[in-house]
Amino acid sequence: MNSVGKYFSDIFYGLKSLWKGLMVTGYYFVHPKQIVTQQYPENRKELKMFDRFKGELILAHDENNFHHCNGCGICQLNCPNGSIEIIADSVPNEDGKAERIIDKHIYHLSMCTFCALCVKSCPSNALAFSQEFEHAVFDRNKLTKVLNQPGSRIKKEPKEPKAPKPPTDTVPKSNPAN
Ligand code: SF4
Ligand code: SF4
Repeated sequence: MNSVGKYFSDIFYGLKSLWKGLMVTGYYFVHPKQIVTQQYPENRKELKMFDRFKGELILAHDENNFHHCNGCGICQLNCPNGSIEIIADSVPNEDGKAERIIDKHIYHLSMCTFCALCVKSCPSNALAFSQEFEHAVFDRNKLTKVLNQPGSRIKKEPKEPKAPKPPTDTVPKSNPAN
């Protein structure tokens, strides 16, 4: 192909490519509900992340400020990069026995890789991920958080009543002949 032919061929393919792009733009112009691009931050108030999104680690609290963390430290042991520190106390419970309670559940968001090993390994299902994703701060120290809220306590399940012991006179005595 000579240079004149190549010149017109380039123009033709350029216009074809432009037309393709305009077709896509026009399609979404008349089908606005199919647009998936998020207009952030204009949509900040109504923006909803996917359920599986891992924003940051939280210790779930209910409306009465109860959580399920007993300070066992398993999440700390399982975190591969030391993003969790558990500070726990030992206090006597109502039966007078020493009981471990959480003092501070510290989370270093700046080191977290969101692997979820802590969430999966917690035997009390106390941990979860929130959908918060705006983590920009001027001071790195703000990325270290205490996850247990002030005044919160562990939620204790009611103890099941002990089964009554069988009366001793119904226990069969061993046969001395055997
Ligand atoms: S969050 Fe779970 S694993 Fe971590 S200390 Fe509390 S109960 Fe243990
Ligand atoms: S998600 Fe992974 S890295 Fe982050 S605190 Fe949990 S175990 Fe550690």
